[in-house]
Formats: sequence, C-alpha cells, structure tokens
Amino acid sequence: MKAIVVREYGDPGVLKIEELPKPTPGPGQVLVRIVGAGVNPADTYARSGNYANKPPLPYTPGMDGAGVIDSVGPGATHIKLGDRVYLAGSVSGTYADYALAMEAQAHPFPDRISFSQGAAVYVAYATAYRALTHFARARAGETILVHGASGGVGIAALQFASAAGLKVIGTVGSAEGRELAAREGAQKVLDHREKGYREEVSSFSGGKGVDIILEMLANVNLGADLTMLAPRGRVVIIGSRGEATINPRDLMSRDAAIFGMLLWNISEDDAASTHAAIGAGLRNGVLRPVVGAELPLAEAPQAHRRVMEPGAHGKIVLLP
Ligand code: NAP
Repeated sequence: MKAIVVREYGDPGVLKIEELPKPTPGPGQVLVRIVGAGVNPADTYARSGNYANKPPLPYTPGMDGAGVIDSVGPGATHIKLGDRVYLAGSVSGTYADYALAMEAQAHPFPDRISFSQGAAVYVAYATAYRALTHFARARAGETILVHGASGGVGIAALQFASAAGLKVIGTVGSAEGRELAAREGAQKVLDHREKGYREEVSSFSGGKGVDIILEMLANVNLGADLTMLAPRGRVVIIGSRGEATINPRDLMSRDAAIFGMLLWNISEDDAASTHAAIGAGLRNGVLRPVVGAELPLAEAPQAHRRVMEPGAHGKIVLLP
C-alpha cells in the first residue's frame, strides 16, 4: 500500500510517499481502507518536531480518516466488514491507503455524509463538542463568540451552538470564510483582523457581553477576549501559538473563567458521550462537515502548508 512516512522531523518536505506492506489487524483491531484522511494543524506541529505529543520516528501522520472496514482482527465484535466508519485516531496513521485502528476508534456514519466529510469529523467535532459541553457548559439562550469560525473546529462549533439555541457570533479572516460562517450558523460574522470588532460584539449582545468565547488563537486574542465577556463568562482556549498578556482584573470584575483544553485528555466516558452526540448530529442533519479542499495523498506537503495559511474555509482532505 502507499502511505506517507515521516523519517525525520522538519518542514513539509519530510512527508514522503512510500510503498509499505498492507497491515494485518491484531486482537481488537480493524483495518480500514482509507477513502479520505483529514489534515489538522496538530499534524504539522508533530511533523515539525516542536510538539509535546510528537510520535516516535518513523511514523505515518493522521488522526482523522474515513473509509470502509477491510478486515477485522480477533475479538473485534461490533464492527463488520464493509461498514463505513470515521476514525477517531488510529494505530498506524491515516495518511495511507489502509489504517489500523482499535475497534473503539472506528465509528459508523450515515450514507448521506461523504467519505471526505467523514474525514473531517473527529478532531473538529469532538473538540468543539468538548469545549462547548464539558468546559463552557453552554446553555440555550446564551451568546457565544466563536473565533476562527471558518476553520474545522469553528464550523463544528457554529453547527453545535446554533442547533442548541445559542446566539452565535463568528469571526473569520476572508470573504469566503464570511459566507461560510453565515451559512453554518453565525447570526453575526466579524473580521478578526479588523480593529473595532469588539464594539460590534458589544452591540450584538446589547452591551452585556458574551457568555462564552471559543478561542482558536489565544496568543493574539486572549487579552481582548476578557473585555468582551458578560458576568460569569467563560473562555475556552482551543488554539494558541505563543504567549498572551491578560489583565486578571477583567476576569475578577466579571467572576469569569478561562479554561484550557486538549482533545487528547478526554476521558473514556466523555469520549463515548461525544461520539454519541456526533453520531446523532450526522444522522439528523444538524452536523454537516465542510470540506474546503481535496488533494491527492502525495500532495501531503502542500496540504500541510495550506492548513497553516490564512483563508481557511473548511477541512483539507487527502485522497489516497
Ligand atoms: P483551521 O481549520 O486551520 O482554522 C483556523 C481558524 O483560525 C480559521 O478560521 C482562521 O481564520 C482562524 N484565525 C486566523 N487568525 C485568527 C485570529 N487572529 N483570531 C481568530 N481566529 C483566527 O484550524 P482548526 O482545525 O479549526 O483548529 C483551530 C486551532 O485550534 C488550531 O490552532 C489548532 O491547532 C487548535 N486545535 C486544538 C485542539 C485542542 O485539543 N485543544 C483540537 C483541534 C484544534 P482565517 O484563516 O480566515 O484568518
């Protein structure tokens, strides 16, 4: 089979396509014929070698993928040959023709969702759900600001939040992103690169401030976020690429809180409830993963460059 292999950490050029033997599933494992592999910013951090969770070399990248069950190992009892599944992580990496996964990492999804959409599910939707539900404890009627609403996690958050009855503001950085965020549930769309968007947040919330902020770039926005919060407001930090300066008094005066979260810390219980929510949303049409670009597997280096560039509009998916 063809697979992307990283033999040294470095720039996107270290992602090389190689011929590897087709794996055989061991006890409790399944082998998935990958039809689409989702690309995440975290894949680029791991590849660069500057990441706490970096995998040992050599490795095949990819936590997101969707495809068809090709074979089932001993003791794997819930998943059948031919099932369409999205993967929540894998054992061998999803940037490949085939990926080994533990049976519990494979989640069936409905026919109305394409394989490329399936490849856009796990990291984005599980992160958005965990931030909204397990940390912010969002409630219908509250106002939420989703920063980076045109990216994978942001779009998922818009869909979950609008379906749950929140009033939703999204920030984007491009015209394409603006249209997308409005379509996927933002009642108000603002440009995070424009000065003055804070005043618009204030007027949208009637001067009260927002109850929840999901933050995709805390090193840029966190200080300002705290000034936009309503009393008892919550900021959930999902993404950050550096240090931030805040004024703690902005939190104190509002009885407000900042949470930091990493998807990989999720407990088994919370993961089960997260995938139940995602499965229901995919079946009833509340969740509609957005694919911004599809590239051949061999173009993984280009996909890694693009996912770090401005102008996000949905997920980038590699096609083996
Ligand atoms: P993505 O698809 O590349 O989207 C990134 C988003 O951030 C885009 O909407 C982008 O908008 C926006 N953005 C750029 N500059 C911004 C700014 N100054 N203020 C606010 N937003 C800005 O990435 P993703 O998959 O959604 O992930 C978003 C972030 O969360 C990444 O840093 C990722 O590493 C992190 N993440 C963390 C976890 C976790 O477990 N904590 C899980 C998943 C992702 P424009 O391109 O239009 O400017």
